[in-house]
Amino acid sequence: MATSLLRVPPPQGLLRPLTVPERLLLGPGPSNVPPRILAAGGRQLLGHMHPEVLQVMDEIKAGIQYAFQTRNRLTLAISGTGHCAMEAALLNLLEHGDAALVAINGIWGQRAADIARRLGANVHELLKPPGEYFTPRDIEQGLVHHKPSVLFITHGESSTGVLQPLEGLGKLCHRHGCLLLVDAVASLGGAPIFMDQQEIDVLYSGSQKVLNVPPGSALISFSERAREKMLKRKTKPLSFYLDMGWLANYWGCDGEPRRYHHTAPINSFFSLREGLAMLAELGLESSWEQHRANCVQLCQGLRDLGLELFVKEEVARLPTITAVRVPGGYAWEDIVAFLMDNHGIEIAGGLGPSLGKVLRIGLMGCNSTSRNVDRLLRALRDALGRCRRSSL
Ligand code: PMP
Repeated sequence: MATSLLRVPPPQGLLRPLTVPERLLLGPGPSNVPPRILAAGGRQLLGHMHPEVLQVMDEIKAGIQYAFQTRNRLTLAISGTGHCAMEAALLNLLEHGDAALVAINGIWGQRAADIARRLGANVHELLKPPGEYFTPRDIEQGLVHHKPSVLFITHGESSTGVLQPLEGLGKLCHRHGCLLLVDAVASLGGAPIFMDQQEIDVLYSGSQKVLNVPPGSALISFSERAREKMLKRKTKPLSFYLDMGWLANYWGCDGEPRRYHHTAPINSFFSLREGLAMLAELGLESSWEQHRANCVQLCQGLRDLGLELFVKEEVARLPTITAVRVPGGYAWEDIVAFLMDNHGIEIAGGLGPSLGKVLRIGLMGCNSTSRNVDRLLRALRDALGRCRRSSL
């Protein structure tokens, strides 16, 4: 008998069937995926340059234009998650030594500042305590003082539950010769955003929140102003994979014949197409209203349980993700674990600057229903009755 050359045996875990329990995902993302989108991702593969796939990509592009309310030619999906779109935005816009102003009122500004510094940009931070938002006056002071070429701001601050008002910011930035870059990963489809009317230069979002699409693709769009800045670059973007020149060509945005750049995650694109199709069928205005109404019901229910909402002003509350203070006498980890173990519901603790301070509840896309709000509030009442610690 021949002796085997293998020194590493097949892993036992892989020889057992895959297990995936049923869970209601009411954290800050991902949210549950409806059967239509799951089925799309399970379709047979086609080649990444086949006309049918290019057609799906064109439909995705049109879906993003609708969701973003933009007519920008340079609109596409990145093969990666929200962070990948954040990196793509920053690394295509910024060159070594460029001044960038980053509005930080939670973790996403912190991360954007980190990425911009890695790119060699001269980063200036505009700070607000977690739970607060920036006024046009705050922004204007930063623009006057630092004269940045790019301002980064987060529309839906998922670590704190803040919705940043965007009205007037685009005009303000342009008056000061600056481009406006907005992160709408946690807000798109759940709160109004109008890329063209609000003069946003770069807007990106993710797939796994309101769109209910598995993580792995991210939406992005660039205005003409942003395109011009990229065309005038003296140096190539630091990443080949995320080079917008290449991606624009692969996505048919530059009028040239499409060339192979990378093998796109085709099945992710099938799912993304269906997520965008479902949003188009529902209509943006209905989607915004659905998220608003269910968030109002949730906030009232949380107050009725004696809990305190983290964001004081109602207008500044993100309709997709609600942050509530961890009540005295409780450890956030106990409540999160109790809901998971006893009710099959995921919620989350804080993140970055809100860690230890809040619990975060997401109601996104198909998960944003009145029934889910009732189910969660019942489960939370149960948790509050059972998780009190005598030592806290
Ligand atoms: N920005 C915001 C506002 C987010 O909520 C998230 C995801 N929680 C991201 C960026 C990053 O997205 P991803 O985890 O898909 O990389």
